[in-house]
Amino acid sequence: MCRKVFLENLRQCQKEAKCAAVGEWARSISNHMYWAAASSNGDGDLVEEKWTSVARHVVNIHEDHGQKFQRCEHEEITRAWIEKGSRAHKEVENIVCSTRLKKDVRQLSPADQTSCLESFHSLVCFFATKQTHFFYESMEARVILAVLHFNENSNRQQARKSDGSLQWQLSYPKYKKGGVVVRPVKEVMTYKYADDLMRTVWCLREGTQATRMPTELSAE
Ligand SMILES: [Zn+2]
Repeated sequence: MCRKVFLENLRQCQKEAKCAAVGEWARSISNHMYWAAASSNGDGDLVEEKWTSVARHVVNIHEDHGQKFQRCEHEEITRAWIEKGSRAHKEVENIVCSTRLKKDVRQLSPADQTSCLESFHSLVCFFATKQTHFFYESMEARVILAVLHFNENSNRQQARKSDGSLQWQLSYPKYKKGGVVVRPVKEVMTYKYADDLMRTVWCLREGTQATRMPTELSAE
């Protein structure tokens, strides 16, 4: 629940002209919340330090975060950082470090976050099946597709019937050994990222001769 609240806060924030940069970070910050909870073994102090470190990370500071989580674990990265002390940075700090959110983040279940990671890993296996060997470039492209698909669909809401009531379904997970579990039915998956990719490919090709039809070329 706290993830939804903070995402909504970030969305509101990016609407302000001076905070447009926040929008470019919303997804990364959201994923960081999952990672903080999933990788801390239920240690509330560690989860909180990992979580608040993102307010420093966005301004390109990756060390001296806290006692238990002192520095970021990522390799050297390049991206458009938010300016330290700017209005956008202050807004990110206000949202990430709000007392209420920090309290909620400490209580995120590592198991829930693990299941999120597991669903991502199964998605990677869907795009890059283990039955087939892929060369590096192909594997990289498939993992990128899995990330695009996951990012677009991981926040789907619960589907509703035509009368507005929520949809549910029964499932029989292995660990229940025949027992039944009621789960929400999610909205239909979308593939907008595929349209965006096709548009980008088309724009890139428009500037080259390769987009010209063979008949055009032979007429010259
Ligand atoms: Zn960092």
